[in-house]
Parts: sequence; C-alpha cells; structure tokens
Amino acid sequence: MSDAEPDAVLVCLRVSEDSIGSVVAGSVQRECFSCGCRVWLSRSGQALESSGKHAVVKFRCLECVASAVEEDPEILKNATVVPGAVQEIGEHMRGNSGLR
Ligand SMILES: [Zn+2]
Repeated sequence: MSDAEPDAVLVCLRVSEDSIGSVVAGSVQRECFSCGCRVWLSRSGQALESSGKHAVVKFRCLECVASAVEEDPEILKNATVVPGAVQEIGEHMRGNSGLR
C-alpha cells in the first residue's frame, strides 16, 4: 500500500521505416513493455519520465494498446495527454510543412 501515483503508461508509436519521417524532433527509443518492440518516446514523454511524478513509467506501442482496449475498454478511463505533447506535435507539423 502506498500513496504514490500509479504507474504511468505512455502510448508510443512503433519504430519502423514508416514512422521515421513522422517522429517529433528529440524523440528517443524505448521498449514496449507488452511485446518488447522498439517505440518512440517524444520529449514531452521524456520529461514526464524524468519528472519523478510516477515511480514507474512504462511504454506500450499503439498496437498493444489497441488490442488491450478491445479486451477491456476501461483501461482508457484514466487516459490523459502528456503535458506538452499537443504543442510538440503542432511544432512538428509546422516544421514539416515549412521544409517540404
Ligand atoms: Zn507492443
């Protein structure tokens, strides 16, 4: 029993040939705790990981989350957006459209 925040689970995009062009700048690689595949962790996710707010931060790929939700939609009940993630994606989109 503890009053610490529960484990945080971050949903991440799998590392693949296709995803390389759509990953926000400063992303690093982590592993999905369900299937062990490589996933991208954005700067906002890294900030959450190092904030100490959650004792344990886990990463899960979109594919694993999608199949888990099919079995138990309740797991999305406490889902939130990582602070800074929306701005980060916005900057990324603007950066892309400027470059291409
Ligand atoms: Zn996975």
